[in-house]
Amino acid sequence: MVHETEFYDILEVPPNCSDDDLKKAYRRLALLYHPDKNPTEGERFTRISQAYEVLSDPQKRAIYDEGGEQALKSGAGYAYSNPMNLFDMFFNAGTSGRRRSDRTRRDIIHELAVTLEELYNGTNKKVSIKRNIICEKCKGRGSMSGKILKCKICDGHGVIIKTTEVAPGMIRQTQKLCKECNGTGEQIDPKDICKKCNGKRVHEVAKNFNVHVEKGMLDSQKIIIKGEGNEEPEKEPGDIIIIIDEKEHPIFSRSEEDLLMRIDIQLIESLCGFQKVFKSLDNRDLSIRVPAGTVMKHGDIKLISDEGMPYYQNPTDKGRLIIQFFVQFPETLSEEIIRGLEKVLGPRPNIKIPTKTKECVLEKFDPEVEAKRHRAQTMMDSDDSIQELQCATS
Ligand SMILES: [Zn+2]
Ligand SMILES: [Zn+2]
Repeated sequence: MVHETEFYDILEVPPNCSDDDLKKAYRRLALLYHPDKNPTEGERFTRISQAYEVLSDPQKRAIYDEGGEQALKSGAGYAYSNPMNLFDMFFNAGTSGRRRSDRTRRDIIHELAVTLEELYNGTNKKVSIKRNIICEKCKGRGSMSGKILKCKICDGHGVIIKTTEVAPGMIRQTQKLCKECNGTGEQIDPKDICKKCNGKRVHEVAKNFNVHVEKGMLDSQKIIIKGEGNEEPEKEPGDIIIIIDEKEHPIFSRSEEDLLMRIDIQLIESLCGFQKVFKSLDNRDLSIRVPAGTVMKHGDIKLISDEGMPYYQNPTDKGRLIIQFFVQFPETLSEEIIRGLEKVLGPRPNIKIPTKTKECVLEKFDPEVEAKRHRAQTMMDSDDSIQELQCATS
């Protein structure tokens, strides 16, 4: 029942995606299209922010799914947050505490792809990060001689004040940022401009860092390299904020300190016991044995203590390895096997069929189609409540 999908398309996720998918998508795209990295994609960055703001809020997402962006704009007159504020909140909430936004502006955010094996064992990773440093040629002054002139256009104020007479005796003043000096009030003689930084006072360099990924670190956890962010004259340098991006693993998935895996077994193994061997994330061979006489049913879940992920900063303690067993049933059986099974398992229970019994057809049940139908139904129900709410407030 999702009519408009633009917000989902912007975040490159399907309309039935989870909150976690949304977070990951926003994190990836916001970093990619942040104006610092992509100055020409400001509009796109704004739309990414708006899409995330709506879809990450269950109530707004329901309204959007039902009536699109138009439904959000009508009624309460919804206003989007400043995309920069949303970005700062998303990336700085929690770890860096209360820092001035002037400071966070110089922070560099870098995503680091890490495998589950690396998070299990801990690792050192080399990363090359581009950062602005104060120009060593002009010592951050922007001019060769060190001389800085007052901006001629704004007379050193950084702003231009314009007065217009709107009516006789009535004067209106407007203030505009001086474009010539970009609000600094300073200018450099064109002949005196530093050739190295082109008068910008800083220039970009790539620097290699050795990042220590500790055992048991979590997806999205931050590693902060203090004072190695962008430099600006007369200001404290920013930090580098490394964000762990846990890659998907073909066998194990993770739920904090627990590891989850599935093991497929044959029908004979399910009924008569079995043994399996598999590799742990630190490449040890682990074996499990279900003795003959124990039946492992389809969907049964078992756990192994201390074979999950190590706890962060306490890596000798480990979580659990949780295993779900899936029985691989045969699609069809031959007459011969059926006769053999009947001999072993005994005959089927006798049933009495009354006269005039209707013989029914078993049709295919598709859980995915059912889930969609269920979602559409809930959407209709919540739609009623939204309409009621609008009536009550208007
Ligand atoms: Zn310079
Ligand atoms: Zn100026």
